Amino acid sequence: MKDISLYIHIPFCKQKCLYCDFPSYSGKERLMDGYIEALSNEILQKGKEYRISSIFIGGGTPSYLNELSLQKLLYTLNKLNLRDGLEFTVECNPGTLNEKNLNIMKKHNVNRISMGLQSTKNSLLKDIGRIHNYEEFVENYFLARKLGFDNINADLMFGLPNQTPEDWECSLRKVAELGLDHISAYSLIIEEGTWFYNLYEEDKLNLPEEDKERIMYLKTKDILNEYGYHQYEISNYSKKNKECFHNKVYWKCNEYLGLGASASSFINKKRIKNIDSIEEYIKRINNEESVIEEVHINNIKDDMEEFIFMGLRMIEGIKVEEFKERFNKDIYEVYGDIIEKNIKKELLINNSGNLYLTSHGIEISNYVMSDFILS
Ligand code: SF4
Repeated sequence: MKDISLYIHIPFCKQKCLYCDFPSYSGKERLMDGYIEALSNEILQKGKEYRISSIFIGGGTPSYLNELSLQKLLYTLNKLNLRDGLEFTVECNPGTLNEKNLNIMKKHNVNRISMGLQSTKNSLLKDIGRIHNYEEFVENYFLARKLGFDNINADLMFGLPNQTPEDWECSLRKVAELGLDHISAYSLIIEEGTWFYNLYEEDKLNLPEEDKERIMYLKTKDILNEYGYHQYEISNYSKKNKECFHNKVYWKCNEYLGLGASASSFINKKRIKNIDSIEEYIKRINNEESVIEEVHINNIKDDMEEFIFMGLRMIEGIKVEEFKERFNKDIYEVYGDIIEKNIKKELLINNSGNLYLTSHGIEISNYVMSDFILS
């Protein structure tokens, strides 16, 4: 039986954040029970063929599910062949956790909570359309700790409208002082189709200037190092032994099965995507029809590029030997000139067969990675 990681998509949110382009919807709560019913069918149909090595329930806001739906989903997942001690994460929003839903998670082997905090400053949370305040996060965090969760992540964002470097430093320090096990620190990206995109187009978004954003980026690593976190990916920091196994599956280009509306899978060199519409997803599952919208078969160039792009996101980088094992070709045969050029510019290092970005390389990683696109 093949080992695989499992991603489960929950497309419901209480309110749409102003920057969010994820496939998630508010005002569709009436579909929740039917969706979980259909999703449970898909899980049993497709998940039974594998041994599951990690589970990540994301969204959307999985912690926004009502108790019955949450229970049903977790009960179904526990029917699969789960590897002993697997990492089992549920994404949660502050303000949606309580003793009941946390206990349901605990009882069904969830052992990692990932909380979307974004900032500790309430006025900034309001400006970006979050439903919660910082105090609710702290309350939920301590409740989860009290109920025995010993692996908790918080997502934070920098480059927010009206945010200063001091605000960012304050967020990092407050969260680190709470003793989170893992911190993801992302920069805001203005995506098309969001409220922020429209405001940006109308020049109504007071984004920090480039040099201020750079200060925020540079502060992140130093401050989090001070509190005992190590950076293991461009935007991810963890305490010892608390790196996220599931995310590393993506960065290492290993296989995963994505179930639910909008979910994506990578299996047997195929990238598969499910349909977005919740209504259509439920209808098709109930009619025993396929919910797959798109299948892309990767060619060797796609695979090589993805291996480099994703692998260089990790601080440990990629192994030259592994490239050869995967593609039956020496990496220098394909990328020799590009690797040498970036090493000369001190953006890349080759240390005993490990190829990774320098600190400056990480800072301008998009620029470095664009060099690795195969024509
Ligand atoms: S809670 Fe998360 S998924 Fe939902 S709208 Fe906000 S950012 Fe998007």
